[in-house]
Amino acid sequence: MSEWTDIIDGIADHVALLKELGERTVEIDLAVMQSLTAKGKTPSTPQNASVHAASGPPASPTDRTGEPPQSQRRPPVAVTAPPTPGNTPARSPEERRKALDEIAVRIDACSACVLRQQRAHSVPGQGNGNSPDVMFIGEAPGAEEDQQGLAFVGAAGQLLTKMINAMGYARDDVFIANICKCRPPKNRTPQSDEMQTCLPFLREQIRIIRPKTIVLLGGTALKGLLDTQVGITRMQGQWSRYEGIPVMPTFHPAYVLRFESYGYMASLKKAKNEVWHALKLVLAQLGKPVPTPSAAK
Ligand code: URA
Repeated sequence: MSEWTDIIDGIADHVALLKELGERTVEIDLAVMQSLTAKGKTPSTPQNASVHAASGPPASPTDRTGEPPQSQRRPPVAVTAPPTPGNTPARSPEERRKALDEIAVRIDACSACVLRQQRAHSVPGQGNGNSPDVMFIGEAPGAEEDQQGLAFVGAAGQLLTKMINAMGYARDDVFIANICKCRPPKNRTPQSDEMQTCLPFLREQIRIIRPKTIVLLGGTALKGLLDTQVGITRMQGQWSRYEGIPVMPTFHPAYVLRFESYGYMASLKKAKNEVWHALKLVLAQLGKPVPTPSAAK
């Protein structure tokens, strides 16, 4: 572990503790941050990503410098890796559709990893590819998704639909995709090499879709897209960035559902509350009101 990782882990642990104690804001002395910054120039932050203060908002999605507006500016907990500019020019909805269809064809033809051997259908992802407010990214297709060729249509997908509706959206308003585009046998977690092989498709999709925010569902999505070893329990509800896009990691719906199947109702309630809190942060970032339950789609 590098000195930087130790420092960042220490700060994250301290902030997590304060959060558990009920603190919702943290004051950080700029001089302390400057002295930390002076210690080294290359912190081991996730590739293409930056981790922001637990309670701080991410930079505006239109801010290509990665800096928040002046009114919201505060010292970051971790030093920001330079965002990779999304240098793909904005495309028309028609061009985006064509580009996404073309990627789906390449995904379907891909046999670069073993997942191809046992899957029935590839699952490229689906939804609004025209700069939607939110792009949800999960792990990999399950049995139902493999049969239908569509992401998140099984039990976890039903909970995801409820989450989307609670935010005031329909499924067609957002884009839903996965790190891996083929089902791993027996729904096992995709292996690192499988994720690395498949990730270029997702990265291409994100560059075309240009979502305003990304919600990462679970630890595999977090590890895959942000290339970080920091776990979902620590990162859930904390903003990061991917190529300038605000990224909110939260728990995978299947993880939440597991508490229900085990009858751990207190844990179920806690996990649901944490997910809902993360989704409300996304709405706040988008400048959208939190719908009342009756107004949710
Ligand atoms: N779990 C995922 O991560 N993705 C799906 O599409 C379905 C279940």
